[in-house]
Amino acid sequence: MKKVLLKLSGEALAGAKKTGFDEETVTAVAKQVKKLTAEEIKVGVVIGGGNFWRGRSSENIDRTKADQIGMLATIMNCIYVSEIFRSQGLATAVMTPFKCGEFTEIFSKDRVNEYFDQNRVVFFAGGTGHPYFSTDTAAVLRAVEIEADSILLAKAVDGVYDSDPKLNPEAKKYDVVSIQQVINEKLAVVDMTASIMCMENHMPMQVFLLNEQDGIIDAARGINNGTKITV
Ligand code: UDP
Repeated sequence: MKKVLLKLSGEALAGAKKTGFDEETVTAVAKQVKKLTAEEIKVGVVIGGGNFWRGRSSENIDRTKADQIGMLATIMNCIYVSEIFRSQGLATAVMTPFKCGEFTEIFSKDRVNEYFDQNRVVFFAGGTGHPYFSTDTAAVLRAVEIEADSILLAKAVDGVYDSDPKLNPEAKKYDVVSIQQVINEKLAVVDMTASIMCMENHMPMQVFLLNEQDGIIDAARGINNGTKITV
């Protein structure tokens, strides 16, 4: 692959603590991404916000406001991960769909391409910029916009199962599954809005375990280290 969109869940950044940041986990990600950029693979990154806040975190406040907090959480995550990447010698940029003072810059496809040409990793923070969406949808949106070859979904599980492996010890893991089947059977990969967008725009995905040794590198090399989602 020449260009990938790496999606990390917020919780994955938190390691065992489930909240906040786990530097060891993020440093391991940075080291892998560094190897990819050394091979001139262009890497865009979208990060969730679940280690801080989700729109569904409170039933008592307005959903739009709750989602704004969620989007801000994703920006904190991107700034943190970007800085860890820099500490490992990577060049980065953090973009948002809305103004965030001097903290980030506004998303622009032309600017992304300039940064990719400079071998920078580009973080797409702040989700889509709209409530009632998720960073899954933001990941698909940006992957399509930047014309990525695939979305690499680094998760806390090692692939897509026919039922929840935590609840069902008999759950069967798919090696390959079509996005149509993901949609029809509501398999837990990305949310429905994101799945439909993937299908309509023919954007494949690779799901794998974040904590697997060289998982990101293998996925970017097209090795099926979890579940391949075809479109
Ligand atoms: N969010 C949003 N719009 C977006 C992306 C994210 O409103 O385009 C908010 C939403 O509140 C979400 C939170 O940011 O719950 C964190 O994003 P993530 O995708 O991690 O949330 P999840 O899918 O786990 O709810």
